[in-house]
Amino acid sequence: MSIASRILLGFGLVIGLIAVLGFFQYRGISETARGFERFRTHSEMQGRVHTLDRQVLELQRNVLIFTATGHEAVLSRVEASDAGIRETLDALAARVTNAEQRALYERLVSFRDTYMEAFGRLAEDRFRRDALLARARELATEIGHRLEGLSDSSPRVLAARAAFSRADRELMSYVDRPDSVAARTAKQNLRAAEGDLEGIADAALHAALQEYDRTSLQMVQAIRGYLFLANVVLAGQAAELDYNTGEFRAGSRAQEQALLQAVAQSAQRSRTVAVTGALGALVLGMLVAVSIGRSIAGPIERITETFVDLAEGRAVEQIPGIGRVDEIGDMASAAQVFKERNQQTEELLEVAKGREARLETQRMELERANEELEQFAYVASHDLQEPLRMVGNYVQLLGEEFDGKLGDEADEYIRFASQGAHRMQVLINELLDLSRVGRGEQAPTEVDTAGVLASVERDLSARLEAIAGRVRSGALPTLRGYPGQLHRVFQNLMSNAIKYRRPDVPFELAIDAERTDAGWIFSFRDNGIGIEPRHYDRIFKIFQRLHSRSEYEGSGMGLAIVRKIAEQHRGRVWLESTPGEGTTFFFEVGEL
Ligand code: ADP
Repeated sequence: MSIASRILLGFGLVIGLIAVLGFFQYRGISETARGFERFRTHSEMQGRVHTLDRQVLELQRNVLIFTATGHEAVLSRVEASDAGIRETLDALAARVTNAEQRALYERLVSFRDTYMEAFGRLAEDRFRRDALLARARELATEIGHRLEGLSDSSPRVLAARAAFSRADRELMSYVDRPDSVAARTAKQNLRAAEGDLEGIADAALHAALQEYDRTSLQMVQAIRGYLFLANVVLAGQAAELDYNTGEFRAGSRAQEQALLQAVAQSAQRSRTVAVTGALGALVLGMLVAVSIGRSIAGPIERITETFVDLAEGRAVEQIPGIGRVDEIGDMASAAQVFKERNQQTEELLEVAKGREARLETQRMELERANEELEQFAYVASHDLQEPLRMVGNYVQLLGEEFDGKLGDEADEYIRFASQGAHRMQVLINELLDLSRVGRGEQAPTEVDTAGVLASVERDLSARLEAIAGRVRSGALPTLRGYPGQLHRVFQNLMSNAIKYRRPDVPFELAIDAERTDAGWIFSFRDNGIGIEPRHYDRIFKIFQRLHSRSEYEGSGMGLAIVRKIAEQHRGRVWLESTPGEGTTFFFEVGEL
């Protein structure tokens, strides 16, 4: 796998882990938020439960006040309390979700129904008692009047009066503070009064007494009824209501605690997930970084060392990392190519060294052969001088002594022999000149080339004057060289220019010098007959001429000598020419 893919995979893993972590975090936070929402709803419910608690207490208080007073206003307060309770219960209905709470709630609703039903009956009894009491009060007044109005004032009537008055008092005391003894005493006194009045013929009084008796009985029953309802039924229901409300509240609180705990747990879980995940991502990230680092840094270090070794020319047996299919493998392949190139270069160097050595040998051989040749030419030409001079002298003697005596043919032969000897003398001299160039030469000195030109011009002045030629020169330098040799170059090139001039145009020669990095280049520009390009090389070889002696006098050695002198001055000689227009010879002098 490539390093880039490995890095991508590593980062992918870390990012993936962070994404998973983020997902769990999100879930955890959502769950905590939901928990808080449930808690909030529940708190609201809890508030309602407290309201219910308070409303139930208020209801009971109002019921007690009503039971005691029987005021209509209190009744409406009871009803208002009940309406409040119903409203609270209705509001709670939607919020109770838990089954246990639901059962408690149902019981609360049914207790409230029973309570209010019992209270309805209580109220009825209470109103009945009030009505009966009012009637009893009327009857008591009527009976009082009737008893007072009795004309009979016998002891029985007096006793009846007293008994009724006691009965009525006892009854009223019962009404105020229901006590069964008072009711019984009242009844007994009433019986006593009725007994005392038997025989008295007052039908209305007897009817009133009977009605009083009935009314008071009913009133006592009504009082007992509502007291029973108040003290037993309603008290029981109230206790149940209290108890259930308490239970409901306790359950709700427990639920609230559970919700709080759930929220806390979910927050704790989120925290654990966050911390574990972050640690995991950190560890994984570190592992990825270390493993990538190890798998990259080590091999790169080794391959770098290999490159350094190769660059410094040390032998490398095995390229590390070769065969890997990643970027390091590519680098190793590059190092392999580098190594192969190095080997090839070394082999080439070896070959070049071999060639250089061979060339050096050949150069030395050539130098030796040249030296030998020059030696030979010098010796040969030098040693030839003597016999040749002898031949020349004798042929000359022969010519002088026997001129006209041996016949015309013999005279001509003698002249040819004399000319041949002379010409050979010239050739040998020139050959000697060539071989003398550089031989036993003094050390180079400062040469004023303008002076050289002036001297050569002087030598050639007669010929120049004869042809009315014009020699023009630029500024010529003073340079290091061999004065005799430079004099020879100027002489050869200038006399060639004169010799190979065009007879139909006035002779012109321009001599200039130009500075170069290595020295000077002199140019000799004439307006002579010019040279075909194919002869450019040939004319510098010895005895090579382009014309017959009958056309132009010469030996073909002049330019060969110039070339040799150029070589002696670390330069060369060459030309540019247009046949029929003129030639420019360039003569280079290097640093000596
Ligand atoms: P030579 O003794 O024949 O002059 P050189 O070596 O001096 O011998 O010259 C070789 C040949 O180069 C000459 O034969 C001539 O044909 C040609 N040559 C030399 N200088 C000039 C020149 N300035 N213009 C035309 N031809 C030239």
